[in-house]
Amino acid sequence: MNTRIIDPSAGAYQYPLLIKNLLLSGRRYGTDHEIVCGDRRYGYQSLNERIARLANVLADAGIGAGDTVAVLDWDSHRYLEAYFAVPMIGAVLHHVNIRLSADQIGYTMQHAEDKLVLVHDDFLPIVEALADQLPSVEGYLQLSDEAQAAGTSLNTFGEYEALLDAAASDYDFPDFDENSVATTFYTTGTTGNPKGVFFSHRQLVLHTLNMATTLAAYEGVPLLRSEDVYMPMTPMFHVHAWGVPYVATMLGVKQVYPGRYEPNRLVRLYREEGVTFSHGVPTVLQMVLNCDEARDTDLGRWKLLTGGAAPTEGLVRQMAERGIRFYTGYGMSETCPLLSLTHLTPEQAALPTTEQIGLRMRTGLPIALVDLRVVDEEGRDVAADDVSVGEVVVRTPWLTQGYYKEPEKGAELWHGGWLRTGDVASVNSQGVLQIRDRIKDVIKTGGEWISSLLLESLISQHPAVANVAVVGVPDERWDERPLALVVPAGGRDVDSEALKRHLMQYVESGEINKWAIPEQIRVVESIPVTSVGKINKKLIREQLAARH
Ligand code: AMP
Repeated sequence: MNTRIIDPSAGAYQYPLLIKNLLLSGRRYGTDHEIVCGDRRYGYQSLNERIARLANVLADAGIGAGDTVAVLDWDSHRYLEAYFAVPMIGAVLHHVNIRLSADQIGYTMQHAEDKLVLVHDDFLPIVEALADQLPSVEGYLQLSDEAQAAGTSLNTFGEYEALLDAAASDYDFPDFDENSVATTFYTTGTTGNPKGVFFSHRQLVLHTLNMATTLAAYEGVPLLRSEDVYMPMTPMFHVHAWGVPYVATMLGVKQVYPGRYEPNRLVRLYREEGVTFSHGVPTVLQMVLNCDEARDTDLGRWKLLTGGAAPTEGLVRQMAERGIRFYTGYGMSETCPLLSLTHLTPEQAALPTTEQIGLRMRTGLPIALVDLRVVDEEGRDVAADDVSVGEVVVRTPWLTQGYYKEPEKGAELWHGGWLRTGDVASVNSQGVLQIRDRIKDVIKTGGEWISSLLLESLISQHPAVANVAVVGVPDERWDERPLALVVPAGGRDVDSEALKRHLMQYVESGEINKWAIPEQIRVVESIPVTSVGKINKKLIREQLAARH
């Protein structure tokens, strides 16, 4: 097409979309809000200076454009500073998933070809044991919460705070191509090694701007505004803590970084620091709501965004009863992550809380700049009737363009210019999405498809159930049958017959078919979770298979 392309005047500035611009625009507000982590608290001017100091430390350690810098840390002010300083000098920030096994951590660090590693004292033993297998690593920088950093055999440049203190507090961050890679991290699939996704400056800036709009602009969705107080409960290694630290910094919001997640401490920080907005996967929110500190704390100020897995109705009801305003988002590692979010009209937001539960648990409306379709096996859009199901495929400016150094896997992810999510969903006439299951987790029984998520949600509504996972187990006659693992709520007895009777009410109301009721309901003490705290269905299936 012959469109008229911009012909810049001599001297015109072609503004690149770089992460540094998110920070500089944040500085403009002159906010007196603080960044808080442990005993440390400082304002945005200090944040800017500290980021410049870190950039100088990185440069002194030999890091330049195109190099990869790994971080192994809990959620901290240091991690926030690295979110900016590393990409702002043109290097790539590798968010190492500290919950992977040591072998997998080693694999991801080798694969990403990390050159410098920022490592918290708590992860020194893992990294010390791996050091021989990391030929690309030229040095380490120690992150410590103690006055005296732990002793280590690693070749370190020193301790973070001491190095920052000694570095200059200004740095002239250069312009470069907005398509330069800014961040990378690894996603664990159902088979094989973790796969590396990567995002550019342009992608992260657009994601940030869009997320800020989505979280603040709509009447019914006032999640994060300048006077809110933000505390993540999604680890900072997990998809950029869903991108919110970039948004919060751009807006000059008070930010509270809780270190290692400990539910009682999270609730104490909520109370003492005036936190108003957090996000986390459902299992983390569940732990926080049920910890001792939460029992007598008024949680009514908290706005919580959940996502990364389907929230069960039991959890959502509990949040509503505690006065928490909750929202559900949908996305994945490959999508930066945000694709869709609960969207309420002002009228819906004014309904009694219990009437909003169904609306808030849905997977939401695709946010602006997200083209999202639900398609059948031939790639045709399914009917928008909330019943027909298909696979979610998407396009937005912020999708990983492939998997690092694995073009064949990238080609499976992308199909005809659409990223295939592997999620099964339906969509209603207003375009509101409902994720039904992952394709791999749907239970195929007697020619019918049963959503494991729906069964979990229904079982979770029994008062004696604290947590539940449903998987398909092989069955000679029916192909697969659902099996439920159930964790009883504190001190209660769960009896599988009572749960079956509980499910019968949904058979009678037509929500599920009779054959969706699991014959096997096993009471367990805990349910295995993945490195990011989601129910680990792959492991559950493997454990069940091993037992047979
Ligand atoms: P990950 O890449 O580990 O963050 O996992 C992404 C996957 O989590 C998606 O493909 C979905 O299967 C699932 N997921 C994310 N958000 C939701 C949600 N709101 N409801 C149901 N499943 C979700």
